[in-house]
Amino acid sequence: MTAHPSLTASQPSAVPAARGKRPESPAGPSLSPSRAADFKTCPLLFRFRTIDKLPELPTADQIRGTLVHAVLERLFDLPAAARTPEAAAALVAPEWQKLLVQEPSLAEIFTTPPPLPAAGTAASKPASAGAAASGPASAGAVSTGAASTGAASAGADPAAAAAEADATGQAVLVDVPAAEAEVARIAAFLSSATALLSGYFAVEDPQRLQPAERETLISTVIGDDLLLRGYIDRLDVSPAGDLRVVDYKTGGAPREAFEGRALFQLKFYALVLWRTRGVVPRVLRLLYLKDAEVLDYSPEAGELERFERTLTALSAAIERAKADRDFRPKPSRLCGWCRHQDLCPEFGGTPPPFPELPLTPISATTALTTADAADTEPDRVGPRLRDDPLG
Ligand code: SF4
Repeated sequence: MTAHPSLTASQPSAVPAARGKRPESPAGPSLSPSRAADFKTCPLLFRFRTIDKLPELPTADQIRGTLVHAVLERLFDLPAAARTPEAAAALVAPEWQKLLVQEPSLAEIFTTPPPLPAAGTAASKPASAGAAASGPASAGAVSTGAASTGAASAGADPAAAAAEADATGQAVLVDVPAAEAEVARIAAFLSSATALLSGYFAVEDPQRLQPAERETLISTVIGDDLLLRGYIDRLDVSPAGDLRVVDYKTGGAPREAFEGRALFQLKFYALVLWRTRGVVPRVLRLLYLKDAEVLDYSPEAGELERFERTLTALSAAIERAKADRDFRPKPSRLCGWCRHQDLCPEFGGTPPPFPELPLTPISATTALTTADAADTEPDRVGPRLRDDPLG
């Protein structure tokens, strides 16, 4: 980890004038960091999410991540001296209520038991190991309609099931009577969100920070017509104008399995900021709340130029795949977190017929799925639910 003290007490300050192209009227394809990473990871997953627009019900782990992000955003509304762990904890329940008002269906995660982690995994408890025989496949966190149900599929990564059990307290609520289970799960969920906030306070002192921006939509157009856009959790700007992009990671996925994807996401933001504000961010920071760890990365202009070419090539590959209707599965550890195994040939499934698409390239509007909107839709209704395993 690299420390950058000049950014630890940043103040909002003027940044260089924007110099990128204006993205208001995109005519061509668009990319968000998550969807770009999807295509890189598995073209078929990209297709399911972006072209078929298959619904994905959020997991408890993802919803908890959304809640923790909301609390951290609100925390900085308080005067600096009031940003204490107690104040953050006091925001958990009200922010949860706000999320429920925006998206009442989130409460469904508490009406059915989450999948239990397989015996022998870190989060499993001896008392629950027997129940694991019923397996993730039989105990989906949420199960309504045709939407895919997260880690509840047969090939789920044990860590995915463990994250669900942790988010809903399943690992410790084995003796709770069924009639009280829902209330107990909600309490465990809120408590586990508070525990993640403790991880935040272990790595950062919000009393010494004044973020310049929070939950900000950034966008630019590169090349001829490729729109890049996404939300950044937090942007700090030092008095000297140095930028630090901060991303909170709340999910239960093993870091090592998804760190490349997380850095890809941060480079994406760095490129957009560089192109729109004329400054290469000095630091890209990942805050892993579960592990109470920080990963800092300092990009260079040459690296971002290469990354821009990578995104352009990626967009061209997506357009080719779309024209050829050829989105192949690319199995990896991510399969253990994929909602669409039942439709994937790698797991014996058959993808749905390829949908008829407009003749124009996947555009800023047509490319957006529910999952994509979570990343990029400026006029979204409801909370921006995290759809990455790392949150
Ligand atoms: S299960 Fe794996 S290979 Fe299949 S679509 Fe999902 S990520 Fe791709």
